Amino acid sequence: MTTVAGEAWFQEAGLQRVLALLNADGGEGRVVGGAVRNSLLGLAVSDIDIATTLLPELVVERAKAAGIKAVPTGIAHGTVTLVIDGKPFEVTTLRRDVETDGRHAQVAFSEDWQVDAERRDLTINALYAASDGEVIDLVGGLADLERRNIRFIGDATRRIAEDYLRILRFFRFFAHYGSGRPDADGLRACAAARSKLASLSAERVWSEMKKLLAAKDPGRALLWMRQVAVLAEVLPETEKWGIDAIPALISTEEALGWTPDPMLRLAAIIPPDAARLAKLATRLRLSKAETAYLLDWANAPAIRDDISEAAFDRLLYRHEASGISIRLKLALAVARGKAEGDFEEMARTARITKLLDRAAKWKKPSFPVNGADALAAGMSAGPRVGEILGKLEQQWSDGNFSMTRSALLARLKELIES
Ligand code: ATP
Ligand code: MG
Repeated sequence: MTTVAGEAWFQEAGLQRVLALLNADGGEGRVVGGAVRNSLLGLAVSDIDIATTLLPELVVERAKAAGIKAVPTGIAHGTVTLVIDGKPFEVTTLRRDVETDGRHAQVAFSEDWQVDAERRDLTINALYAASDGEVIDLVGGLADLERRNIRFIGDATRRIAEDYLRILRFFRFFAHYGSGRPDADGLRACAAARSKLASLSAERVWSEMKKLLAAKDPGRALLWMRQVAVLAEVLPETEKWGIDAIPALISTEEALGWTPDPMLRLAAIIPPDAARLAKLATRLRLSKAETAYLLDWANAPAIRDDISEAAFDRLLYRHEASGISIRLKLALAVARGKAEGDFEEMARTARITKLLDRAAKWKKPSFPVNGADALAAGMSAGPRVGEILGKLEQQWSDGNFSMTRSALLARLKELIES
């Protein structure tokens, strides 16, 4: 018997209260999905999803009677979020699909655990933990989990036609938990249905891609996605550019203790072309911060690793330091990838590392002269003020920001009179 009864997350008082609530008076509740899967893999369990035979209204009623906060998150779809000590538990009534069109499902409530299991996507995602901790496997998920085999429940082609997002979920879960080659049937079905990805909402696609890119090592998943032309459907920008930069980036992250960053992984596989990236951001509905990340990077200049500190400071002053850092991180990964046994590349990694440190510590100096100074020096308001100040600022930055305010004011007078 497989059980999660001994696990700390399962024994937590909040979860036990929820399970006790649902498993009284003829009802039943079980933990399902990611929590059970991750726990059996020895990985951290974050959010806990629970499935129940009780109708959502009854879940709310019982929670209220027990003094537990109930949020009707998606009550029409059967989901109620119970909050205990600030920790949310998503409780969803067992469901069966009435109708699917590849994008949305119309569901009906059910009391049949087998049916609820079979409408989930992958076998490793359909494991339940009963209230005593016993793991219940209705679709062969335990064997697949042991072999780290990512497999659709039932016929892959049919399951994908119900919801095309499952193509990306297949690769996402392969990236996180798979090993060896992806399941052949699943891979073939994903390849055949790839053009349907265009029918999905951009938000769902990007959210799934971002989770894939956040895997410890998304390299193999990306390689297979590229192999079966799924990657080009979602990110055509990668097509000519390729994904060869990923292995060196991942090993650099690991060696230097960088936190895996889906945006940096994305930057590694697309060209730094601001116009194309602006289109990508619109197409996939990236957030403002994500869009700025890509554009700051694309607009940053290419940097020679033998650049002088003074020249580098001037670049930092004129461009977004964050964008320059992204360029350097990617360049460092490339250099490290070639460095073994290559003295020149080794020296290069050392120089890039120094520049990265300098960029991280960079504080943009503020130009100590402004329009009021120009007027005080006798100029009249107008476009010439901006021109002159621009020239002055250029000279100040060319001189490594070392000219004092009084020296600058003297220079200002000269510029006005010239
Ligand atoms: P994590 O939260 O760690 O990303 P998870 O397995 O909990 O992983 P969720 O996206 O939170 O994944 O979904 C919860 C469960 O709902 C899944 O484990 C799966 O059983 C089911 N599920 C989610 N999305 C789909 C889908 N598109 N098709 C079928 N089942 C799905
Ligand atoms: Mg989850």
